[in-house]
Amino acid sequence: MILGNFDVAVIGGGHAGCEAALACARLGMNTVMFSISLDAIGNLPCNPSIGGTAKGHLVREVDALGGEMGKAADASFIQSKMLNRGKGPAVHSLRAQIDRKTYHREMKRRVEEQENLQIKQAEIVDIRVEDGCVRGVVTHTGVEYGCRAVIIASGTYLKGKILMGSYSRESGPDGMFPANELSDNLRRLGITLRRFKTGTPARIHADTLDYDKMLVETGDDEIVPFSFETGQPGENRVNCWLVYTNEKTHNIIMDNLERSAMYGGLVEGVGPRYCPSIEDKVVRFNTRPRHQLFIEPMGLDTKEMYAQGFSTSLPEDVQLEMYRSVEGLEHCEIMRSAYAIEYDCCDPTELYATLEFKKIEGLYGAGQFNGTSGYEEAAAQGLVAGINAALKLKGEEPMILQRLDGYIGTLIDDLVTKGTNEPYRMMTSRSEYRLLLRQDNADERLTPIGHRVGLISDERYERLLKKLEMTDNEIKRINGITVPPRLANPVLERYNSTPVKVGIRLSELIRRPELDYAKLADCDPDRPQLPREVAEEAEIKLKYDGYIKRQLQQAEAARKMESRLMPEDTDYDEIYGLRLEARQKLKKIRPKSLGQASRISGVSPADVSVLIIWLESRK
Ligand SMILES: Cc1cc2nc3c(=O)[nH]c(=O)nc-3n(C[C@H](O)[C@H](O)[C@H](O)COP(=O)(O)OP(=O)(O)OC[C@H]3O[C@@H](n4cnc5c(N)ncnc54)[C@H](O)[C@@H]3O)c2cc1C
Repeated sequence: MILGNFDVAVIGGGHAGCEAALACARLGMNTVMFSISLDAIGNLPCNPSIGGTAKGHLVREVDALGGEMGKAADASFIQSKMLNRGKGPAVHSLRAQIDRKTYHREMKRRVEEQENLQIKQAEIVDIRVEDGCVRGVVTHTGVEYGCRAVIIASGTYLKGKILMGSYSRESGPDGMFPANELSDNLRRLGITLRRFKTGTPARIHADTLDYDKMLVETGDDEIVPFSFETGQPGENRVNCWLVYTNEKTHNIIMDNLERSAMYGGLVEGVGPRYCPSIEDKVVRFNTRPRHQLFIEPMGLDTKEMYAQGFSTSLPEDVQLEMYRSVEGLEHCEIMRSAYAIEYDCCDPTELYATLEFKKIEGLYGAGQFNGTSGYEEAAAQGLVAGINAALKLKGEEPMILQRLDGYIGTLIDDLVTKGTNEPYRMMTSRSEYRLLLRQDNADERLTPIGHRVGLISDERYERLLKKLEMTDNEIKRINGITVPPRLANPVLERYNSTPVKVGIRLSELIRRPELDYAKLADCDPDRPQLPREVAEEAEIKLKYDGYIKRQLQQAEAARKMESRLMPEDTDYDEIYGLRLEARQKLKKIRPKSLGQASRISGVSPADVSVLIIWLESRK
């Protein structure tokens, strides 16, 4: 039963699937998106929040390229905070508490209203491949749809299995059906699959908590939106709460450790090091007297509260005892129990940086299926896979983001070059260019690329150029100002900064750690009224000018290595002097450039020198 033909079929309506489907449709592809349940579109099966350290950067980069997550988050947040404000701008990261149902509604409306896009409730059980190319997909009811590209964004559903103590069941998250058949099809197609695991805490009833025993966590007064397109951001609607585990909690865990699915040996999948369960934390950091937990509302019209930091695969009786051992939760009622989930995912070193599989033309992977963990990581990959599937079908140049372009480029390069043996979570420490890849300049770095591929409109691109011009003008203006002592010293005294005897450049004052653009307003009477983001950009570029210049030089050297391309048909067996391990790794990864080759684990600097000599000899 062939019921339709499309350009692109997207398997999954999660964070990766939605971005992929919207990008393909907006680039003119006749697209269909499948989800086992349409009620899972844009679902937040774990923490009801978007953003956080490095994840906030990803959301801004997705927005700057023309993706949707930032806008949907701005339309459904209930509390917003800029993390790490006390530190440098490289690690400033936006994090917003999200109303889970509103986010689902917002994302579902966007995909439903999108031209060129159909959404269908069905489980894909087969991908049809002929002569190494994708030809179509088949649903669990036997219906077939023809297509020229398929993007797999199946999340935690492939052979999904939930575990709680000794109990386990085949299931997707939140009681959804798992996808049990597609894995077998993928294995037959020669795709390597691994077993990963993640976990989520319980949801507890808001009216059964004692807030007097908790520390309130409020949102920021001045709210910064995720999307560069969001004019007036909303306002904070809720508080979150901070509590701590204690010795009693830790004893309950240690007394029942063997009953945890994880420590009882029931879990096969590999879990995320940077999102540990409470058992992991108590075992790994056993000298710590307490661990912090954040109690976060799941939404405005629900009593469900999310206990961040309390994920576990211990059985339910232990969960209740453990949760009630925490001050403020003594009488809590659990509405949804905590659980671990394991699922199949691919080996991302089998993908190109376009996220297309090397083995099958027109087949792409995105999101948790590629071995990452997190809504933001998923959305970033979905967008890249969607853009590249469309560009390839249109016969246009692929969009390959470099590590220098952003955290999205860093994420994908890490996955396809180094692979991952556990769910990969983005962190600012993963980038060697943190000061260049700030969340405030994501538009400057990526919107021109979004415009080139056709996702960013000319109007939006013009607005960016205007913003950059205003920023440059403001920097030039400030660099041209010398502040006389009579104007400077009253301000310097106010902020305990060393007074001056002679005129001083305003740009020099901005660089003083105790001063900033806002504090120096009295030293700058002719200051123009500028948009917040322009003033912020000018300040950062002035204040960190020296560091930015140094990192740009570093980046220039790396850019040279990236521009030295490895010929597609390189026969690494022919290159004399390569060590065996390097030869094997190079043959598997087939790096596009010398830069990528140098990042493959097992390829030493000596091997890189051999490659350089070989490339020179070819010239
Ligand atoms: C229990 C749990 C705990 C988590 N804990 C964390 C955490 O601590 N930290 C963190 O960063 N992230 C965590 N996550 C991960 C986070 O939810 C995911 O990273 C994110 O949702 C992945 O997005 P995705 O688009 O790849 O997949 P998902 O959001 O899972 O969406 C997958 C979509 O694919 C569809 N689908 C799957 N197979 C098929 C098929 N064969 N046919 C049709 N449709 C199909 C599903 O219906 C769904 O729409 C957790 C997830 C779960 C479930």
